[in-house]
Amino acid sequence: MSGCLFCDILSGDKRSGIVYEDEHIAAFEDINPQAPVHVLVLPKRHYTGLNDAPAETSGRCIEAARRIASEKGIDNSGYRVVANCGSDGGQTVGHLHFHLLGGRRMKWPPG
Ligand code: AMP
Ligand code: ZN
Repeated sequence: MSGCLFCDILSGDKRSGIVYEDEHIAAFEDINPQAPVHVLVLPKRHYTGLNDAPAETSGRCIEAARRIASEKGIDNSGYRVVANCGSDGGQTVGHLHFHLLGGRRMKWPPG
């Protein structure tokens, strides 16, 4: 146990749920999906959130999300990639992650 839920998932016995992985990035299904496709994309290295991650890391996450969207077949229908940051942003897990959401029409504003 590292004290970080997502670090524990990446290093523990729940790795079987991982849907994408490369040298720097991993992705797994959200436990409480808000859309038919709801995947969390995150760096393997721990960063608390957008405020403390290098741009290269955030860029790698977005690029991975784009590839997963293509693999899931939602690249043409469209999708949303969002990172909640801090309490006002609605972040509940303190390990940088991007939500990839798709498979239904998203609403705006998000609330
Ligand atoms: P956020 O609120 O932006 O920090 O997003 C955290 C996300 O992590 C939420 O959408 C949760 O449903 C999801 N989550 C929490 N625990 C787990 C878990 N054990 N496995 C997968 N997703 C999780
Ligand atoms: Zn972590």
